[in-house]
Amino acid sequence: MAASDFSNLIVAAANTIAAHAEELTGLDQAIGDGDHGLNMKRGFEAVRADAEAIAAKPLPDALKAIGTKLVMTVGGASGPLFGTLFMALGKELPGTPDRAALTAALGRAIEAVAARGKSQPGQKTMLDVLQPVYEALAQGKTGTEIADAADHAADATVPMKALRGRASFLGDRSIGHMDAGARSTALLVRAVAETVEDR
Ligand code: ADP
Ligand code: MG
Repeated sequence: MAASDFSNLIVAAANTIAAHAEELTGLDQAIGDGDHGLNMKRGFEAVRADAEAIAAKPLPDALKAIGTKLVMTVGGASGPLFGTLFMALGKELPGTPDRAALTAALGRAIEAVAARGKSQPGQKTMLDVLQPVYEALAQGKTGTEIADAADHAADATVPMKALRGRASFLGDRSIGHMDAGARSTALLVRAVAETVEDR
């Protein structure tokens, strides 16, 4: 991918997080502490501020730089988890990945997030979006189909009971609300999938 394309990808991701920050905050207010929108906005604005320098790097290094920046700026539980996701993608991906390489790398990155969070899909977290996205990618779905699968997966966290993160403190009262990290993950997936597909 050309540096300008990767820079566009960063801008698209940061823009969608900023545009939905209040929504993410509202979701986290319902079953958490209400900081997820601001956490993500701060993190992705820091990444966007560095977009050109990051995009000038080879893809693996660019992803590692994004992950490091997110760890430093997002905070909360989600900062180290999103940071791990991008750092692991950077570690696993070759410089010019095809779909098979991307799928394999995402699978490994999901394992890294799960290890870091001591979590797994089914516990009402970002993993409940990442795992279906991995499956859609493996099935050869288009960018729009992958983005739709991510939205659907975020919606599917509503009836789940939270077993990890702050929302788990609420037990059954976490049921009936969408997980904030699942929603932010779906937003990022749509930004990436649609920017890549439009190329
Ligand atoms: P905090 O919970 O510290 O306030 P955020 O509000 O920024 O941090 O992020 C909360 C989100 O992080 C949750 O909605 C969930 O998706 C994700 N999350 C929290 N703990 C875990 C975990 N152990 N494994 C995977 N995802 C997690
Ligand atoms: Mg929170």
